[in-house]
Amino acid sequence: MVSEVLILGGGLAGASAALELARADVPVRLLERETGPHHKVCGEFLSIEAQHDLRRLGLDPVRLGAVPVDRVRLVSGGTRIEAALPFQALGLSRKCLDEALLEAAQSEGAQVERGVKVIALEEGKIATSTGSRTAERVFLATGKHEIRGARRDAGSGADYIGFKMHWRLAPRRMSEVGSAIELAPFDGGYAGLQCVAHDVLNLCLLVRRERFARLGGHWEDLLAELMRAPHLERLLGDAEAVFSRPLTIANLPYGYVCDPVSPLPPGVFRLGDQAAITAPLTGDGMAIATRSARLAVACLRAGSGPAEYHGKLQELVRSQVTRAMLLQRAVELPLAIRCVAGLLGLWPGVLGRLAGMTRLAQVPPM
Ligand SMILES: Cc1cc2nc3c(=O)[nH]c(=O)nc-3n(C[C@H](O)[C@H](O)[C@H](O)COP(=O)(O)OP(=O)(O)OC[C@H]3O[C@@H](n4cnc5c(N)ncnc54)[C@H](O)[C@@H]3O)c2cc1C
Repeated sequence: MVSEVLILGGGLAGASAALELARADVPVRLLERETGPHHKVCGEFLSIEAQHDLRRLGLDPVRLGAVPVDRVRLVSGGTRIEAALPFQALGLSRKCLDEALLEAAQSEGAQVERGVKVIALEEGKIATSTGSRTAERVFLATGKHEIRGARRDAGSGADYIGFKMHWRLAPRRMSEVGSAIELAPFDGGYAGLQCVAHDVLNLCLLVRRERFARLGGHWEDLLAELMRAPHLERLLGDAEAVFSRPLTIANLPYGYVCDPVSPLPPGVFRLGDQAAITAPLTGDGMAIATRSARLAVACLRAGSGPAEYHGKLQELVRSQVTRAMLLQRAVELPLAIRCVAGLLGLWPGVLGRLAGMTRLAQVPPM
């Protein structure tokens, strides 16, 4: 009899792996620390690659309420450049998407335990808030959160803070955003805005920690800085904030790609953000989550161990992460942005081409 696979974390990576394993009749148990549906810091830009993987799993994001995103707009100072995306993306709340995946996994037979927090990976066992567990094969999919015994190398990308806020906008303001993802670079960071439901706008941004401190160290200070841009002032000035406080995340090792030879307890496969963290700017983190899940399941079913899986995953994601990080650094440089904006003003189509150049590769056949 095949032994049970234990999945730690029920986000996009963990839930899609659970669904795929359950469908293949592999016994699977998933531990998720939250007790119910919850919001996450995410731009909620669902790339074509992520959509493809979700549809392959039988989930239609449009039926879950996703709205189309088919244009990209760069707004910087007085410059506003817009171009068609080379693919049709979608905007969808993670609260809704992740929950739908978890429910699908459960209905296919995955055992889902909610409200169980993983504390540490130790030799031969996993310490959790409800006692210790054992499993021969473990999928570590706790996303941004570090687990004792499996910490990631923080590298040089960890000095950003991420914020997310949903806003309810009047229909005339929603139509100003339309079906575009809007990128608004500012000194020390950048913001991304897009619709994620017919009346909800997601504002998600990354700011350097020292810049945030210089601004005053509060969300209100950051928002005031953003709203110095007239179009954001107009858009958000009379909008209703959906959360009482923004969601935040810090200390993420952007640019990290797991090393196949890094020490981990035996039988542990890293998935999603535990395996690689790309620059949010290119909106491919969710695709890395779904693709790593697919690859881990394929490796496990083919009898390959974690080292082989991590090697294949590194090949799959490394160049996307490198290109995305380069683009993110360029967006932060005011001079680079002015030059790029000038060039894009002459050839707006290049903006869409840039979006196309940072996509993730296909999972290799096993
Ligand atoms: C600012 C920002 C903007 C982004 N924008 C985009 C975007 O627009 N498009 C895109 O594709 N990607 C984007 N990303 C990346 C994307 O959000 C992630 O890559 C993706 O969520 C990774 O999925 P995951 O399943 O690995 O982790 P997560 O989605 O974080 O899921 C991890 C799960 O594990 C659970 N968990 C955590 N710790 C424990 C524990 N100790 N015990 C038990 N359970 C635990 C959590 O509750 C959660 O449900 C963005 C990221 C950031 C930071």
